[in-house]
Amino acid sequence: MHLVESFLSIQGEGKYAGHPSLFVRFGGCNLTCKDFGCEFISPLDGSKLVGCDSLYAVSGHFKNEWERFENAHELFAQVISHVKNIDYLPHLVITGGEPLIHYKNSVFYGFLELALSYGFDVFFETNASVEIDFDRFDLYKKIGFCMSVKLSNSGEPYEKRVNKKAIQNIAAHSKEAFFKFVLDKQTLKTNVKKEIEDIILGCNIPIFCMPLGKKRAEISKNASAVALFCVKNGYNYSDRIHINLWGDRKGV
Ligand code: SF4
Repeated sequence: MHLVESFLSIQGEGKYAGHPSLFVRFGGCNLTCKDFGCEFISPLDGSKLVGCDSLYAVSGHFKNEWERFENAHELFAQVISHVKNIDYLPHLVITGGEPLIHYKNSVFYGFLELALSYGFDVFFETNASVEIDFDRFDLYKKIGFCMSVKLSNSGEPYEKRVNKKAIQNIAAHSKEAFFKFVLDKQTLKTNVKKEIEDIILGCNIPIFCMPLGKKRAEISKNASAVALFCVKNGYNYSDRIHINLWGDRKGV
């Protein structure tokens, strides 16, 4: 397992925005979402890389910066070192990349087992394109899922980004689940409502929409249009509080 970073902060997005959270980011993703347009410089060869704001946890160009773990106990010990000086348990938020590509991995599963028995409320930030076998891996029934299913503005083809069986399985079998869609002004001029309706079909769970942007200025550009879209359609608006507080700094 490759750990990209872990840090204590507040949840900036979605249903639990504002809640103290311990973030654990794992490396690797099954999508690339190039159309999100965030630019990074490759530490490998200095080339320009384009993708989402978590590209440093997606692209193999950053792999030398990730920390490899072959033991769940060692991984868990490192992660809980962040909470040794506080007297409460924050939410434990598993993110990436796409954490569900590792869902059967024994180190990853062992880590989740340790976290749940320690008393953490565990949440996944996922693109929900990987189907979980909830019968064989029943620990996932005790976990909450924020399903950030990608829309066409990600640049990914429909067949790669939308897996309805995976989505409906998570909605039906997990401890709790909600949707979080990333929207921008341009996309709101298309029939994105239809895209969302297609994805949420058969799932009776909350829906959040959030403005696209890695920096405050980009978020402000999209925010009011997304908020109005939410009001019109009965969806919940989600800000990106961490960006308002800390900009695009990593590790907060
Ligand atoms: S699925 Fe998420 S982590 Fe993966 S490339 Fe897309 S936005 Fe980034």
